[in-house]
Amino acid sequence: ELHNMVQELKGNIRVFCRIRPLLPEERQPTTENLFQPVARSCGRGLEVYAPVDTKKGRPRNDRPPFGADSAPASSASERPKWVFQFDRVFDAVSTQKQVFEEISQLVQSALDGYKVCIFAYGQTGSGKTFTMIGDHQNPGMIPLSVRQVFAHAAKLSEQGYTFSFEACFLEIYNEHIRDLLAKESVAAADSTEPNKFAIKVDRATGSTYVSDVRMVSVHEPADVERLLTISARNRMTASTQMNERSSRSHSVFRLYIRGENHEMQQKIHGLLNLIDLAGSERLARSGSEGERLRETQHINKSLSALGDVIAALANKEKHVPFRNSKLTYLLQDSLGGDSKTLMFVNISPTLDSFPESLCSLRFAAKVN
Ligand code: ADP
Ligand code: MG
Repeated sequence: ELHNMVQELKGNIRVFCRIRPLLPEERQPTTENLFQPVARSCGRGLEVYAPVDTKKGRPRNDRPPFGADSAPASSASERPKWVFQFDRVFDAVSTQKQVFEEISQLVQSALDGYKVCIFAYGQTGSGKTFTMIGDHQNPGMIPLSVRQVFAHAAKLSEQGYTFSFEACFLEIYNEHIRDLLAKESVAAADSTEPNKFAIKVDRATGSTYVSDVRMVSVHEPADVERLLTISARNRMTASTQMNERSSRSHSVFRLYIRGENHEMQQKIHGLLNLIDLAGSERLARSGSEGERLRETQHINKSLSALGDVIAALANKEKHVPFRNSKLTYLLQDSLGGDSKTLMFVNISPTLDSFPESLCSLRFAAKVN
């Protein structure tokens, strides 16, 4: 209760920043090698220092690659510095468990009947999939959320509640929807057949759904983990044929939660959406053409549509432009109203990634 009140005061949109560690191969000394600490977490703020040109010992980027509004303030050490504010900043040593602890209340609220969206935003290689899915040793937000939801549902069943769960897992690629759980999905991935799946709105409830998509009843965490395996296989198979498709598409995991308590005449309809967004990197204007250019245009369009929707919601604007992309159209039942949204902005700490990192942080500042 108290938590929900605090939430309300804070608004229903929060942004967390997560900086991944350098990978072993990134530590190798190469020409672009030296990893100056370009980002340092400080509580809820993030200080970003321009990289130093190691040859000259001077700041390399003394001008940000974007508008004058973020002109760097000079720091004592003469290095240009930017400061960003977030609801939480996780640095490279943060564990999946520590990150999950900060979202567990939010996940919990889906069992109270709230619609919840958790996004991972960032350039390819910044740790979105690690954060959302993780690996065997470090399960990410999807498996950890699902474990918590099932554990709490079990507790609530002792108080007379009965719960049932259904999940689906979709991919949106070039504004086309693919079912990551469909058995024939691999073949369909490469076909150029017109969009088979359509987003529909249930007029009675306002909830959105995708026609013909596979909805799977799940009863325990292992069921969901099996679904993650199937979807990973589907994404991977396609990617070998389609140019790292998984980094060019959004994946949307939806867990539908239905609860009932006869004694208290209570019905619960919660929905938990966990979204691994397409890589936010911009492509150099020259050199990208054909399929790649089309992909990028679709990605840019849908990411900026998402930013517009979240900004409109945050500013309590009357018109929220849900229809500008498949992603926002699909998620319109889970964005706005009393639903809760959290966005991870994933940041890669490498020198090469610096300009893209700044762009991601700026996007986050816009929606925050
Ligand atoms: P993205 O999905 O944004 O393209 P990935 O999640 O695939 O990025 O991460 C890129 C690489 O970095 C992967 O090898 C992943 O295992 C690793 N990685 C990402 N975040 C972390 C982290 N917090 N701790 C350890 N390794 C990470
Ligand atoms: Mg990924």
